[in-house]
Amino acid sequence: MELTTGVHDVAPPKRGYFKAGYSKAVIVDGGDGLIVIDTLYDADAGDILDELKRMGKGPADIKHIVLTHAHRGHLGGLASLKRLSGAPVYAHPWEADIISGERSRQEPNIFVTTPIQSYPIIFFGRLTAAINKHEPLAVDHLIEEGDKIGPLQTVHTPGHTPGHLAFYWPERRVFITGDAFVTWPVHCPGWPNAMLNHEQSWASLRKMAEFDAEVIAPGHGDAITNNGAAALRALAARG
Ligand SMILES: [Zn+2]
Ligand SMILES: [Zn+2]
Repeated sequence: MELTTGVHDVAPPKRGYFKAGYSKAVIVDGGDGLIVIDTLYDADAGDILDELKRMGKGPADIKHIVLTHAHRGHLGGLASLKRLSGAPVYAHPWEADIISGERSRQEPNIFVTTPIQSYPIIFFGRLTAAINKHEPLAVDHLIEEGDKIGPLQTVHTPGHTPGHLAFYWPERRVFITGDAFVTWPVHCPGWPNAMLNHEQSWASLRKMAEFDAEVIAPGHGDAITNNGAAALRALAARG
């Protein structure tokens, strides 16, 4: 779905609950090739390929594949998209060796249960983690705070995971927040039951609230298409 000119989000609408809780991918068309941010759950990347088709594009138009963090529900289609596009893959150094399969993800505290809607997904994911893995893939470029990918500015937003990244497009005032800010099932800086560091999560939310974002494309849940900064600031004031 086109959120604003050049920014599309992609999600499996109904079956998403059982596949990482409606995790989203974002396609950015800045005029110089496409950037795909996150790759959903399914290994065939079918939903992303369908959205590309609706845009009148194909996998050969993908110039960059960028990952907000190394959680299963954001890595499903990564290897397929890489094979189809040959595009370089970008992630933060802390996430890169999880993506490449050299290290296991760090699990959050299992006794934190809120928001309850996401707890079964996390619990089930943990039970099946040994057999339900993403296809490992080497990261081509390690990126950090301030790095540019096409028109996007990299913003380090640790807390949900230490190497979590969000991406801001200043000219369009679009924030792609990954799991550093989600709108499903409630507005929060990543689900508390999936956060590795709660203090860092809230600090990252306050950092994102300083940007003058109009549109927010979160990692889970509906996008905010106007005055996104107000939603971030309202939440930051509660944290
Ligand atoms: Zn996550
Ligand atoms: Zn997620």
